[in-house]
Amino acid sequence: MRALTEQDIRGSFVNCSKGEAKRLAVPRDLGERAWDDLDFLGWRDPGAPDRSYLVTEREDRLVGVAMRFQPAQRGFLHRSMCSLCLTTHPRGGVALMTARKAGPAGREGNSVGAYMCTDLACSLYLRGKKVPESGGRFEESLTVEEQIARTRGHLFAFLDKL
Ligand SMILES: [Zn+2]
Repeated sequence: MRALTEQDIRGSFVNCSKGEAKRLAVPRDLGERAWDDLDFLGWRDPGAPDRSYLVTEREDRLVGVAMRFQPAQRGFLHRSMCSLCLTTHPRGGVALMTARKAGPAGREGNSVGAYMCTDLACSLYLRGKKVPESGGRFEESLTVEEQIARTRGHLFAFLDKL
């Protein structure tokens, strides 16, 4: 994706108020990100450990999503799989991310959820730039490009539900 500025990011959120988008924590290292290797930028809020965000580019438009998740719980599944990139991780490496729906549905408390890599580094796992800690990826007959296209499809299906 193209390199984003803080202003791009703050202006992209579809499911939180303008005030929230203005205040939320944006990564400080935007200038050093390997944007060519990213299908979306995802990060956790250092000041609020149950919050995370992602911003992606869809048909030349930026779409940002504010999400919440439950940190790892005892007795939860030993291993689970990210529904976007299909990487499996041990406990805590995958979390159910819930996003408030956009508009009136969200104000009424409706949300949608999906299991995602807790570190939101799906793009890097797909490209082999980051190796999951004692987790893994299935041997796939698809090329990396095909896997990237599939991941984007899963991500866009999630965005469609917002
Ligand atoms: Zn993932």
